[in-house]
Amino acid sequence: YRTDYISLDQVPVWKHSGTVSAKPLYKANDELSLKISLFRGDITKLEIDAVANAANKTLLGGGGVDGAIHRGAGPLLRKECATLGGCETGEAKITGAYGLPAKYIIHTVGPIAHGSVGETERRALRDCYYNCLRTATENQLRTVAFPCISTGVYGYPPEQAVEVALKTVREYLEDNPAQMDRVIFCVFLKSDEDLYKSRLPAYFPKD
Ligand code: ADP
Repeated sequence: YRTDYISLDQVPVWKHSGTVSAKPLYKANDELSLKISLFRGDITKLEIDAVANAANKTLLGGGGVDGAIHRGAGPLLRKECATLGGCETGEAKITGAYGLPAKYIIHTVGPIAHGSVGETERRALRDCYYNCLRTATENQLRTVAFPCISTGVYGYPPEQAVEVALKTVREYLEDNPAQMDRVIFCVFLKSDEDLYKSRLPAYFPKD
């Protein structure tokens, strides 16, 4: 029994707080808003159905969140990943989670942006979120956490990535409301937490 694991009960549903200045981009819909969480911390501690991994094309491990996931899962994860033949940018592949408390890991490869993004990168990042959600649904997984894909070493500007992440999740939930119970935006940096807090009300407004 590990006391550092974080169960879904310990991750509150996202709530509007303070003065909301963001202009709503969608209609208020509590059915969808109640499925969202913003959690700041280590994604490898979450005891949920699936955690998304911001992997690289080899799927054999790397730095950042990928490194943390492989360290937490242990060497059997690399062994399974080695059978998958890598992963293209924007695609998603599912594996077991081994030493992690989650049930599965959904690996996706974000676009490499190095600070500037065009339509190709934007679409690839959207595909990452969309294909992870689709893969979760295909496997009857109902609680999923995402790190801030591509915004670390891959250099996608976080303030542009957050728009893609929130838009893709909002639209997926609109289309598949019965398939997903919770989507957790797992941020690691205080700056990303602030960014999500400021932009969530635009995508998940309240009446
Ligand atoms: P990429 O190569 O896709 O840019 P990185 O791992 O470099 O991926 O960064 C993606 C995000 O993951 C960054 O916001 C980074 O701060 C965050 N991150 C790093 N470690 C963890 C962790 N253990 N849990 C959640 N997020 C993490």
